[in-house]
Formats: sequence, C-alpha cells, structure tokens
Amino acid sequence: MATLRLEVITVERKLIDEEVNMVVAPGSEGVLGILPRHAALLTALTYGELVVKRDGQPDEFLAISGGFMEVQPGHVVVLADAAERAEEIDLERAEAARKRAEELLAQAKKSDVDFTRIEASLRRSLTRLKVGRRRAEKRFAPQRSDYERMQ
Ligand code: ATP
Repeated sequence: MATLRLEVITVERKLIDEEVNMVVAPGSEGVLGILPRHAALLTALTYGELVVKRDGQPDEFLAISGGFMEVQPGHVVVLADAAERAEEIDLERAEAARKRAEELLAQAKKSDVDFTRIEASLRRSLTRLKVGRRRAEKRFAPQRSDYERMQ
C-alpha cells in the first residue's frame, strides 16, 4: 500500500519521522484523515488524538495539544504545541493536572487573565488521560486467544 512521510515535531523533540499509511489528526475544524495522495493543506490543530496507521500493525495513538499540520502530497508535518505517545503518558500526573485545573477553574472568573491558561491546562490533561487510557485498554482488553480458551 502507498505510504506518506509523517513528521511529528514539538519545540522539544521529534517524535516521529517515518513512512506510514495514513494519519488521522484533530483538525481545528474537525477530524482529518490523510492518505498518501491527499491535496495540500495547512490547518490548525486542536486538542485530541493523532492516530498513525501502518499496514499490518496496531494503530499508534499520540496526544496532541494544539499546533499546526501541513499536508503536501506524500508528506505530512505536524508541529504540535505538545505531543506524547500513549505509552509515555503518565496517567497519575495527567490526573493530578486535571484536578488542579478543575479546582482553579471553579474559583476563577471568565474575566480572569488566567482563565484561558487554566482552561488550556485542563484540555491538555483531559487529552492525555484519554490517549493514555487507550494504552491501558489495549493492555487489559481480552485477546482473541482468551475467548478461545474460554470455549
Ligand atoms: P503538568 O501540569 O502535569 O506539568 P502541563 O500541561 O503543564 O502538565 P506541559 O507544559 O504541556 O505540561 O508539558 C511539559 C512537558 O511535559 C512536555 O514535554 C510534555 O510532553 C510533558 N508532559 C506533560 N504532562 C505529561 C504526562 N501526563 N505524561 C507524560 N508527559 C507529560
């Protein structure tokens, strides 16, 4: 199957630079599925999961917290404000960040200068929790062989 080169970059590091079959990204106007011959486009990204599809392999999930994506035929560059692979997300840290942000939001007023910053922190933590839990689901989800053993 045809491939496209995917680069996922933050200011801190390069997470991915390789040929993949499809990318599903959290575009600011909705979820975008990018196949190898997708037309050129430039879009802002919102908080959400980036799914990387490779033939014959399980999907890979990354938490993305805003940024931009540039699509050229056969080449996708994701410049994320923050990005983590599902496997590296510390769920306890994300849960603590979520709690902290929710407590601060409950006290803050919409007019507070910090309101937007706290809201962004909450959205980052919720995205990390969602993507990080996918890894836990995968680990604990019964495998086909478990069902076969039960027969
Ligand atoms: P926290 O309040 O937990 O520090 P934060 O949203 O302030 O989170 P960021 O400023 O977005 O953190 O990120 C700082 C660095 O830490 C980035 O490299 C980011 O990828 C990483 N990071 C943040 N939260 C987590 C997490 N739960 N698990 C793994 N890496 C994380």
